[in-house]
Amino acid sequence: MAKEITDREEDYSQWYLDIVKKAGLADNSAVRGCMVIKPQGYAIWEKIQRQLDDMFKATGHVNAYFPLLIPKSFLSKEAEHVEGFAKECAVVTHHRLMDNPDGSGVVVDPTAKLEEELIIRPTSETIIWNTYRDWIQSYRDLPLLINQWANVMRWEMRTRPFLRTAEFLWQEGHTAHSTKKEAIEESRLIHDLYADFAENYMAMPVIKGAKSANERFAGAVETYTIEAMMQDGKALQAGTSHFLGQNFAKAFDVKFLNEGNKEAYVWATSWGVSTRLIGGLIMTHSDDDGLVLPPKLAPLQVVIIPIPKPNGVLKEEAEKIKQELEAQGISVKIDIDKKKRPGYKFAEYEMQGVPVRIGIGARDLEQNQVEVARRDTKEKMNVSRDGLGQSIKDLLDDIQNNLLERARKFRDDRTHEAKNMEEFEEILETKGGFIMAHWDGTTETELAIKERTKATLRCIPLDSVLEEGVCVYSGKPSKQKVLFAKAY
Ligand code: AMP
Repeated sequence: MAKEITDREEDYSQWYLDIVKKAGLADNSAVRGCMVIKPQGYAIWEKIQRQLDDMFKATGHVNAYFPLLIPKSFLSKEAEHVEGFAKECAVVTHHRLMDNPDGSGVVVDPTAKLEEELIIRPTSETIIWNTYRDWIQSYRDLPLLINQWANVMRWEMRTRPFLRTAEFLWQEGHTAHSTKKEAIEESRLIHDLYADFAENYMAMPVIKGAKSANERFAGAVETYTIEAMMQDGKALQAGTSHFLGQNFAKAFDVKFLNEGNKEAYVWATSWGVSTRLIGGLIMTHSDDDGLVLPPKLAPLQVVIIPIPKPNGVLKEEAEKIKQELEAQGISVKIDIDKKKRPGYKFAEYEMQGVPVRIGIGARDLEQNQVEVARRDTKEKMNVSRDGLGQSIKDLLDDIQNNLLERARKFRDDRTHEAKNMEEFEEILETKGGFIMAHWDGTTETELAIKERTKATLRCIPLDSVLEEGVCVYSGKPSKQKVLFAKAY
């Protein structure tokens, strides 16, 4: 069969686009920057959603839904917020079309101009805090721990499926608290939850850290991020959790009576992960034969393919195995499509990233075994038919762990320290990946490094040790190393 996708070595960007297309994850749409998420891609999003939703609920959060459209005046109430998002806003100005007087098609009806223009939400802090004003009066109404699953729109100029699109799906949590301490704890709790999800479900190791002032969310006091390394050594900001201080409470006049019966402004957080995570999954694990998915997020975990031709006995056996696996909580499909040859099917399921393939032929049956192929290493092995459910369950766990360890080793091997700009630039040119370096803490230096190298300050890692040093760029004193990388 002809090679369907570009090799990573040859052109990593094209490889990524080929995977998205050939694994049936997404299509372009008529609108630039907006994608159609196809069933295979959406099934992965559903797995991500279900798991995260369980984790949010287990930590006391509930779901709600707020409107897509935000009055323009709301956005400008928080000065930094509007400044950060103004350049990416889609604006609704009219509510009616009419026949074009020249007879061709339709045009906007000029008499149907909105009194107040509306913004398609780029994020929902403003509309939510405008609502919270009515919901919060006393300390008894707090904390408010609300999440919404929604789409948002940011008019991004450079887009790439999943990683950066103009419209994307995400969840956004918006919480309200009576104390600063509690709000900070909430933002850190979600930061930890995101890191847990990335590592233990996506098998994608992440660096946890705080963003510099320059990279902070518009309107936040502190932004916590999880940063992952993709196979080309670039960083991906995989999720963010913001401590918003009282900025939005002040902008929307959200006050409460505290236990001492005194009026005070409410403390806030917000946090989100998006369909970008699917891009992260692809770029962390997949190979030149297609998608590789961690078993915990694979919509289909095992495919059983009777070989060469499914006859009555083989079909029955496949059905029995399916039941045994399902009893272990594994998702399974039997492929008895006679129109496709086994070799073709193998390649197809490899492309789709199904973690385990089981082949059964007449000889296997005689020998009381099946042929098992794992997608991550492409190893094939004969496995005894006895206790197969447990063996496959163990194998899926092993694949999940192997993917995480492989990705961790990959990242650690490509993380280097730089003492000066010569080293910094040499690492970027020859090795790529993450650079740990001392930084003097100023935006000026951060921007100068970005200008010179295109690498950005990804985060100030939370676990980085405090040590006296000198800034890689300015030579001024520094207290700890921070993480730099070129990023998506
Ligand atoms: P933010 O509200 O800017 O902190 O965004 C929350 C998360 O959404 C980010 O950490 C990204 O992972 C993701 N994200 C931001 N912009 C985009 C985009 N254009 N396309 C896909 N995901 C995005």
